[in-house]
Amino acid sequence: MSAAALETPIYLDHHATTPCDPRVLDAMLPWFTESFGNPSSATHRFGWAAEAAVEDARERLARDIGASDSREIVFTSGTTESDNLALQGVVRAAGGPASGHVVTSAVEHPAVLDACAALERDGCEVTVVPVDGGGRVDPGAVAAALTERTRLVSVMAANGEIGVLEPLAEIGAVCRERGVLFHTDAAQMAGKLPLDVGALGVDLLSMCAHKLYGPKGVGLLYVRERSPRIRLEPLLYGGGHERGRRSGTLPVPLVVGFARAVELCLEEMPAEVERITALRERLREGLADGLPDARVNGDPERRLPGNLNVCIPGVEADALIAALKDVALSAGSACASASGEPSHVLRAIGLSDSAARASLRFGLGRSNTPEQVERVVQRVLEEVGALRERSPGAGRRLSGN
Ligand SMILES: *Cc1c(COP(=O)(O)O)cnc(C)c1O
Repeated sequence: MSAAALETPIYLDHHATTPCDPRVLDAMLPWFTESFGNPSSATHRFGWAAEAAVEDARERLARDIGASDSREIVFTSGTTESDNLALQGVVRAAGGPASGHVVTSAVEHPAVLDACAALERDGCEVTVVPVDGGGRVDPGAVAAALTERTRLVSVMAANGEIGVLEPLAEIGAVCRERGVLFHTDAAQMAGKLPLDVGALGVDLLSMCAHKLYGPKGVGLLYVRERSPRIRLEPLLYGGGHERGRRSGTLPVPLVVGFARAVELCLEEMPAEVERITALRERLREGLADGLPDARVNGDPERRLPGNLNVCIPGVEADALIAALKDVALSAGSACASASGEPSHVLRAIGLSDSAARASLRFGLGRSNTPEQVERVVQRVLEEVGALRERSPGAGRRLSGN
């Protein structure tokens, strides 16, 4: 075994999750032990302190995403729950699935696509609009899909596999004009690029803490309160927490950490966008120099700073990832990689099965350094060379796909 394999791998999987920032952990710690109250306990100061902390976090988070009222923030367990609450909650509150119609895109996270499939089983009509070769949804195609039964349009802010940014403001304008609600899954965009629900015309927005250097297990759904006021049928019934929209005792330390994590992202965003974009460009150039036949998947310009998804013809991404023991990488969504199926996102942008299997995703983030990027370029070139030597001709056979 090489010495490199024994060291902590270089983490390049920031789309799957991120480490909790120590400053976030510091903010959370007192709320586990000293100030452990239940924010719903209204009869003593333990409860009051917890409630004040939650409401402070709610106000800061509302401000950070451009919401006008902290009551528009519903805390959840993460983006999966937020997506389900948005889709199922809107459709079930508006006459039920049997009379409804939902429009979404072909590149959504399974949390959205599978929630749509569940609604479809209950009689809801679902239209999945395609994307172009760069992975972008055409706002005109969304407009063309709308009917008088459409309850909701759900299109993600930024894709977790190919990093592509969707035209949210344009889709928001289409929805606004036609009087249809617009939901976006912003799990990948939040904390990485500016986000303003007012400017984007978004009515519901999902995000979570663990993709932006906060703790796992907490997320939020932004739900517009005024013009229009949105009615939601809850997924969880119980004590009527979150104004009846999500029952269950709030995880106070996680909520406090979530607000701190978003704040740190916003403070550091201008510098981080520049720094991480430069790292990503260096990675892209280094790979392009050594592998002239490699291609970038997804729109080259309109993408997350930290995302690079490349197809290396003739190389099985799974084999390459396994060989790169000193780099923590994945081919695509952690949620889909267990299935062994080629990525639905890469298929949606027109890649063949073999090209999709030859694609891997680099997810750069806060902890990465220029030295790490140089090392990764060198290691990828080494291992691609070794794999191609083992199966010569594979590259020739597959190129042109
Ligand atoms: C990670 C992710 C999710 C799932 O988020 P959890 O908080 O882990 O449930 C949903 N959508 C997108 C786009 C994601 O990147």
